[in-house]
Amino acid sequence: MAGDALSQDPAELRKRIDTTKAHPARVYDVFLGGKDNYPVDREAAAAALAANSRGYLDVRHNRDFLRRAVTTLTQDEGIRQFLDIGTGLPTAENVHQIAQAIAPGARVVYVDNDPVVLAHARALLTSGPQGATDYIDADLKTPAHILEQAAKTLDFDQPIALCLVAILHFVEDEQAYPVVRELVDALPSGSRLVLSHLTEDLNPANIRAVQRTYTERGFTFVLRSKDEVARFFEQSGLVIDEPGVVPAHHWRFEDGAPVPPAVEPHTWAGLDDIEK
Ligand code: SAH
Repeated sequence: MAGDALSQDPAELRKRIDTTKAHPARVYDVFLGGKDNYPVDREAAAAALAANSRGYLDVRHNRDFLRRAVTTLTQDEGIRQFLDIGTGLPTAENVHQIAQAIAPGARVVYVDNDPVVLAHARALLTSGPQGATDYIDADLKTPAHILEQAAKTLDFDQPIALCLVAILHFVEDEQAYPVVRELVDALPSGSRLVLSHLTEDLNPANIRAVQRTYTERGFTFVLRSKDEVARFFEQSGLVIDEPGVVPAHHWRFEDGAPVPPAVEPHTWAGLDDIEK
């Protein structure tokens, strides 16, 4: 629930935190060098790294894509509102900090379903006085609930950037495509869809081995091709902005600077205008 999520009884919250099995947010935190993870998460990250030794780089490239997308949207395209679903554990550069450094009035709603993210969500609510942030404890598969709660902080008559960054591979097709369509349909003209997704297109053997390490631990882990990623945009009639769906670290890499060498990238990334 928006705002109220933080008032959840700490004892109840602790009950929801399962330290006997790996959780995506905490494994991702291991890759980012964070401290909010348990031995079981570090063991899962080690298994994924054994399958793909560039795991750290892929995660860093993905996070950098999110940073560049939020910067571009705030600085160059006048976006002032973000709905970031699949937030992950707080890091040094969360969406509201990036956006509010450029536009202090920026408003951000974070959504995640992991109790550990909720336990750390206060760090996501450090908005400057002119802006606003909120945190919703919810599953991506409940878009109507997310939209209703997000409307307490975001103005749905003004453009919103919907960020689905490194989350959709945790959701099967039957739900992933309809959910994204429902969310996009609710956004006003001038909004944006920011999306990144793991793929096996670029380095199949390693990334399939990574997939096995996750599915063995009970995660849903769906790899999608470039066309399948593009379909998240196309199903709503969106035409993807330049440079299109590209490896995450190629996406508008520092203007004028050389793109880092394309060594075994694993993540597709793209951004789109929503015109109605
Ligand atoms: N977007 C961040 C973090 C990605 S890690 C980034 O790119 O840096 C993926 C996050 O999605 C985790 O925090 C995990 O808890 C969350 N997640 C996975 N499935 C989810 C679901 N069904 N609903 C809400 N959050 C989910």
